[in-house]
Amino acid sequence: MASATHLFPIRHDAIPSLLQKYGIVPTTQRIEIAATLLCERQHLSADQVLKRLTEHGVSVSKATVYNTLGLFAERSLVRQVIVDPAKVFYDSNTEPHHHVYNVDDGTLIDIDTANMCLEQIPYPPRGTFVETVDIVIRIRNTV
Ligand SMILES: [Zn+2]
Repeated sequence: MASATHLFPIRHDAIPSLLQKYGIVPTTQRIEIAATLLCERQHLSADQVLKRLTEHGVSVSKATVYNTLGLFAERSLVRQVIVDPAKVFYDSNTEPHHHVYNVDDGTLIDIDTANMCLEQIPYPPRGTFVETVDIVIRIRNTV
């Protein structure tokens, strides 16, 4: 399996081989969906990916966008960030990091792990280990 870190920006012509590295067959629609999300470090919902594809004249169904992003997350090409059960983002940055989510305007911002110190977390249950820690800090506007 491929390394979890991408070097941005990822050029469109590099997408097919990148998909193959993650064990994903690079169909035309998958290439377009990957190119939309992976062109920069960003967080997009499936609906936002669909909107951008439509704006660029790419014809793809909502079901295909949802299924393809789910496949990308399953293969660790992108990271799924679930800020609440009704709001899922796909993150082109797969390096370990945390997030600040603004509940009022829906924006999601990265926090580098180096900028957050976790003094103590509970011991995991016997026979398990901590694989990752993902924190979402939810904020609201004061005005
Ligand atoms: Zn992120």
